[in-house]
Amino acid sequence: MRQVFMARVLAVCNQKGGVGKTTTSVNLAAALAVSRKRVLVVDLDPQGNATMGSGINKMELAAITGDLLLNEVAFDEAMIVAEKSGYDLLPANQNLTTAEVELMGVSSREFQLQKILSAVSKRYDYVVIDCPPSLNILTVNALVAAKSVVIPTQCEYFALEGLSALMQTIERIRNATNSELATEGILRTMFDPRNNLALDVSKELLRHFGKQVFRTIIPRNVALAEAPSYGMPITSYDNNCRGARAYLALAGEILRKHKKT
Ligand code: ATP
Ligand code: MG
Repeated sequence: MRQVFMARVLAVCNQKGGVGKTTTSVNLAAALAVSRKRVLVVDLDPQGNATMGSGINKMELAAITGDLLLNEVAFDEAMIVAEKSGYDLLPANQNLTTAEVELMGVSSREFQLQKILSAVSKRYDYVVIDCPPSLNILTVNALVAAKSVVIPTQCEYFALEGLSALMQTIERIRNATNSELATEGILRTMFDPRNNLALDVSKELLRHFGKQVFRTIIPRNVALAEAPSYGMPITSYDNNCRGARAYLALAGEILRKHKKT
């Protein structure tokens, strides 16, 4: 079956800031790489956090994802092998903001990333896209290119409200351009079981979204916050901490699911 060799594209997306998108992108990608999957991480956020967290200096880039989106460079001119992380990276920095504006003048602007990724699809098993904290044209590019969406969320009071806006956007993209776009799963991040509100919101999420919620829960774990400052994923920084075990479990959950389908 030809499909087996095509990359599965996961967009890690939530328009809310600071919910663990980048932490999830980098560490899920590294955990998939530990399972010998060929992985590409696409940094689609001008903050360039996934780039720095992969051990690549965002101030010293020859080309960024934005240059690719504007057809100004070839894939291999922008792609960097993030050796310490075990995956390939399309990096980003603040110049992506300029690219985002210029992209508005491109006629097939929503399809640029899809075009780029389908051309390299056979080189990877998984592509993980780290989205910015907004529902802008960059995020739309990710959702058009993706097969499914990983939605990190903190178990806080406003979580559900934000999720319904995101679900509506996903539905809109599904109806307009990408009919196969699925929810890979809602991921509970920075979870602290001693916090009663977190437990309540977690229950609510399960009640509302049922099987769409990943069984794996990412705990609040200091090592996960420390690792990016060393430019390492958690699996390299501290392979045995709770954070590492959680992201390895998440990768396992995703891999098992895809084996079945
Ligand atoms: P943005 O919307 O700005 O892109 P984000 O959704 O990508 O943010 P992260 O950058 O992954 O969120 O996480 C926000 C902060 O929380 C970071 O400082 C990160 O190191 C920290 N963090 C993320 N997950 C955890 C965790 N499980 N335990 C402890 N700290 C965490
Ligand atoms: Mg981020």
